Amino acid sequence: MIPYGRQEISRADINAVVDVLRSDFLTQGSEVPRFEQAIAAKVGAKCAVAVNSGTSALHIACLALDLGLGDRFWTVPNTFVASANCGRYCGAEVDFVDIAPDTWNLSVTRLQEKLFQAKQDQRLPKVVMPVHFAGQPTDQEAIWELAQEFGFKVIEDASHALGASRYGEPVGSCRWSDITVFSFHPVKIITTGEGGMALTNNDELAWRMAMLRTHGITREPERMTRPPAGPWAYEQQALGFNYRMTDIQAALGFSQLARLDEWVKRRNTLASRYDEALHGLPLRLPTVKPENHSAFHLYVVRVKPGALKKTHREIFEALCAADIGVNLHYTPVHLQPYYRRLGFEPGQFPEAEAHGEETITLPLYPALADGEQDRVAAAVKRTIGHG
Ligand SMILES: *Cc1c(COP(=O)(O)O)cnc(C)c1O
Repeated sequence: MIPYGRQEISRADINAVVDVLRSDFLTQGSEVPRFEQAIAAKVGAKCAVAVNSGTSALHIACLALDLGLGDRFWTVPNTFVASANCGRYCGAEVDFVDIAPDTWNLSVTRLQEKLFQAKQDQRLPKVVMPVHFAGQPTDQEAIWELAQEFGFKVIEDASHALGASRYGEPVGSCRWSDITVFSFHPVKIITTGEGGMALTNNDELAWRMAMLRTHGITREPERMTRPPAGPWAYEQQALGFNYRMTDIQAALGFSQLARLDEWVKRRNTLASRYDEALHGLPLRLPTVKPENHSAFHLYVVRVKPGALKKTHREIFEALCAADIGVNLHYTPVHLQPYYRRLGFEPGQFPEAEAHGEETITLPLYPALADGEQDRVAAAVKRTIGHG
């Protein structure tokens, strides 16, 4: 089976992890700060807070921005459930903004309409979370402009987009947001096994997130509410969590980071090869806007409704039978049973729903060989009845 995505682990990665295992600190040593500084430098952000998953990073990002009970939180429906769940963890009311028909990213037009309506109804969101779908940056500067106009905060879910850029500005620099979050799950661009990171240019937000990842505890004397009673003193100032990343994970991430540029380049090469091989078939291929450089976390195609004899499901099953590990990104979050119970219904976000019914993710990862990719392309052509 050719999977839709997978990690690549080198000898150097293994050595980096083994070195930590032989050292004094498995967690809270020097590897986590080193990894944080390396990612911050890579994307051009001031501060970075590493945690044990992308989901944890989304959660503490929301909390740092004071998202709480009864506040409103908006994201897109075609994302992983974690993008919406983080709002629910904070007690916020989650709602969605439909996607654009070309990039499959948050539609700025839909966002603008929804904001005007929400302003009239006095139901403006506190936080909006765009998602860089498949690794292509969102129209972030336009979203940021609306954030200033309507007074909401912005967290970029960049789980797919480490190594991407827009107008040459790296995703993660937070030029057009308050906080950006990366995931280091094994299918993502680089991995730490499990892991995530929140980037920001705001020292205060970074400090809050660092405190929340470790129980809400601070050990900095100047941050304490009372003079420290002794060198052992710490204060718990908020209700935080144990969301810490281990040094073992950070060493793996730091070692992986050395291959980021090479990997994103390879992902783009493979995407171009798919574009060429699948051109002319009754499929919609990904469109990357000229101002964007995509990290190509995923290569997503859409079957054109009515253009094929086979259904979306039949195509999926035929590709699985040919040992091609296709996947579906995503079943719209608002149609998950948990969100249906909160009152969401089919028909509310038509672009995201059409996307969910037509979409197929083809295998794409740096170690995918040209020959394997040719086999995938041939199977797709055969399945949809062209050659
Ligand atoms: C992977 C992913 C997450 C969650 O990341 P974890 O590290 O698995 O917790 C969140 N949002 C999106 C869009 C993702 O793809």
